[in-house]
Amino acid sequence: MDFAFTPEDEVFRAELRSWLEGNLRAFRKDRDEVEPPPTDLGATMARRKDWQRRLNQGRWAAINWPREWGGREATIMQNVIYSEEMARARTPGIFNANGIWQIGPMIIRWGTDEQKQRWLPGILSADEHWCQGFSEPEAGSDLANLRCRATRDGDEYVLDGTKIWISTAHIADWGLFLVRTDPAAIERKAKHEGITALIVDMRVPGIQCRPIRDITGDEMFNEVVFAEARVPVAYRLGEEGQGWQVAMGTLGHERVGTAGMSITLAAELERMIATAREHNPDALEDPDLRDRLARAWTQVTLTRLLNYRALSKVLKGEKTWPEVPLAKLQWSHLSQTLAELGCDLLGPAGILARGGPDAVDGGHWNHQYCWQRYTSIGAGTTEVQKNIIADRAISLPRR
Ligand SMILES: Cc1cc2nc3c(=O)[nH]c(=O)nc-3n(C[C@H](O)[C@H](O)[C@H](O)COP(=O)(O)OP(=O)(O)OC[C@H]3O[C@@H](n4cnc5c(N)ncnc54)[C@H](O)[C@@H]3O)c2cc1C
Repeated sequence: MDFAFTPEDEVFRAELRSWLEGNLRAFRKDRDEVEPPPTDLGATMARRKDWQRRLNQGRWAAINWPREWGGREATIMQNVIYSEEMARARTPGIFNANGIWQIGPMIIRWGTDEQKQRWLPGILSADEHWCQGFSEPEAGSDLANLRCRATRDGDEYVLDGTKIWISTAHIADWGLFLVRTDPAAIERKAKHEGITALIVDMRVPGIQCRPIRDITGDEMFNEVVFAEARVPVAYRLGEEGQGWQVAMGTLGHERVGTAGMSITLAAELERMIATAREHNPDALEDPDLRDRLARAWTQVTLTRLLNYRALSKVLKGEKTWPEVPLAKLQWSHLSQTLAELGCDLLGPAGILARGGPDAVDGGHWNHQYCWQRYTSIGAGTTEVQKNIIADRAISLPRR
């Protein structure tokens, strides 16, 4: 770590902390302390909408957006502070995470004035819910292989094809989709070309959202099937064929949110020790489990330092190889390690799932065990991160 927070950064932190103190207290007075289970999607989303609206009233919902659109034009350091403080205060989830962190910035960067006026206020106010439709059955890690077709027909595009794993598409009002407008680009081995970004009204005819049940039993993501769905050309973001550049700008925003991860992980570690103390105290005398706890604590500290080292380099304008992919590997691995440890500390009770009368902590640990599997898939799979490190950081020879 090779940086210090400036006096302005500390003012930013103090302002946020004091806002959170008052507003979280008020929020928790009005609502239940814990989120309802994701199976109760209506209740979860109502709670998140309420929280996002409060954040927006304090101008804390979209800190990276320009001031004229309700943001704070936050610096990298302020982003780190924001993530840390949100994690420390254990704030609730927000209604439009995709919209605020990825799609909104895309509209701000590439949208026309009319498009900004039409869509940005609804994202920020939580009046409209957004999903992000990139992945396809044959295009995940290799996203540029996408083939969902958009054919121009006068002032409209006609969409045909299938997207998959699209989070909350079934409850979304709008979606930002990457589609193929030039199929010949794949044949001429230029698959990053011929991709276009379209904003899609999720309620038009010809769109079917089929929720997919995940390992936790929840149905948060979807297969989205387009069959001659029509989208006005006026809903295109950027030029035709410019979709890859539009999308890559937003995926970068995913990385900013990981700064608070080590705080969340440290809190999770403390919580599992407290739970074990209450429900299965003998586990804390077990040498093997004690060893795993000590290792986990060391790894949490390492994660924080790794993030700070990456940040130091970003601030100096240096390349962040291999820190960024290493940090992603580290937090995904650690999230899964902690989830396993949380279950093991509870002994047989660790596997009791939510809904059961004897489930400890509402089945939190069992749920974590299943849910954290996503961390080695989302935001770049483990194998792909390792490839990046091998290729660009340590220059291993290619076969
Ligand atoms: C909880 C969750 C929510 C999601 N939400 C969304 C969403 O809202 N919108 C959206 O568009 N997508 C979403 N996704 C999809 C996600 O982006 C993809 O799952 C991810 O990009 C991986 O693609 P894939 O599933 O097709 O796996 P694949 O890319 O097919 O990978 C399968 C396996 O092969 C390995 N592999 C792939 N390529 C290589 C290689 N070159 N070398 C070595 N190994 C390789 C991978 O590491 C993996 O183990 C979500 C996924 C999850 C888990």
